[in-house]
Amino acid sequence: MNSHQEKFAIEVCERAAPHVKAIAPYVPGKPISELAREFGLEEAAIVKLASNENPLGPSPKGLAAAQAALQDMALYPDGAGFALKAALCGKLGVAQDNIVLGNGSNDVLDMAARAFLGPGVSAVYAQHAFAVYPIATLTVGATGIEVPAKSYGHDLAAMRAAMRDDTRVMWIANPNNPTGTFLPWAEIEAFLGEVPRHVLVVLDEAYGEYLPPMDRFDTVSWLAKFPNLLISRTFSKAYGLAGLRVGYGLGHPAVIDLMNRVRQPFNVSAPALAAAEAALADTEFLERSYAVNLAGLKQLSAGLAELGLEPVPSRGNFLLARVGEAARINQMLLKRGVIVRPVAGYGLPEFLRVSVGLEAQNTRFLAALRECL
Ligand SMILES: *Cc1c(COP(=O)(O)O)cnc(C)c1O
Repeated sequence: MNSHQEKFAIEVCERAAPHVKAIAPYVPGKPISELAREFGLEEAAIVKLASNENPLGPSPKGLAAAQAALQDMALYPDGAGFALKAALCGKLGVAQDNIVLGNGSNDVLDMAARAFLGPGVSAVYAQHAFAVYPIATLTVGATGIEVPAKSYGHDLAAMRAAMRDDTRVMWIANPNNPTGTFLPWAEIEAFLGEVPRHVLVVLDEAYGEYLPPMDRFDTVSWLAKFPNLLISRTFSKAYGLAGLRVGYGLGHPAVIDLMNRVRQPFNVSAPALAAAEAALADTEFLERSYAVNLAGLKQLSAGLAELGLEPVPSRGNFLLARVGEAARINQMLLKRGVIVRPVAGYGLPEFLRVSVGLEAQNTRFLAALRECL
């Protein structure tokens, strides 16, 4: 019996739904405080490059707005998120009824699964795709269809071919996490043109702000053409608000209406709403996030190449490197106070994913890795 089976052996869990027991738990990056406890290290001496967090911290405007909003924490937040939606409308040229707000974009993905999936239907996602797609799919009792990756990325033709009559959702991340792979927008547009209109295509753009200008595209303009498209975005990465939990989905009003029915009424907290609204206007911070990431990607790519580890080219704020015995090397890195992410759970047992940090953090990681190889 493994530890999971043991847990299910207690009576109350024995009869839990089999589809829930089949879910592989999400494995988050190790918190700094936990590593400090385990290895007796100083927290200040630890570098965490494990969760694709913004190394610059939060948007200063977002932080100030969240602090001000704490004054009213005795009150429920605006469940409709009017002010944040209004800011998004101004920026994106959509209407309030095109937007659903989430407790992080993971919440948006989860709402999409609860609104459009259930027992007896299926969803398609790629091998090495973001872990939340199988979790959200299996949670509601739907069947997950995993399609082999092509050069670590999504194989859209194979995903299209894997669709069944009972398929209701296709999950696509562009760029994808943890691989950093990117599909040209023209391929996604062609895919949207081929997918039957009764299938919801969820396009997860968590790393969209990190795309170089030549790869950026206004996917919101597709909503007019494809009523079965749901775009999901987050304030967790480039805006630096991961700890507050706020993201949003963009779609046809009818799609958004269904998602709002399964949404928890006050799913986004007042400080999160205020911070996101302010961060959206903080273009200076966004530009700095982009620039620091671009420089860090170059530094890490060059450093990894020097160690003979050609990383998978990434359009995100992280890199995937094939290090061989990743579990062992990860342990050695932890002992040196460096936290990165093992990705064996993504079917990549020889790889480690490292988030882009500040120059000194990247240097520290590369030096520690050199010692471990
Ligand atoms: C980080 C990430 C998200 C964002 O998650 P939040 O819930 O918004 O913090 C969504 N999708 C992918 C692919 C990610 O890597």
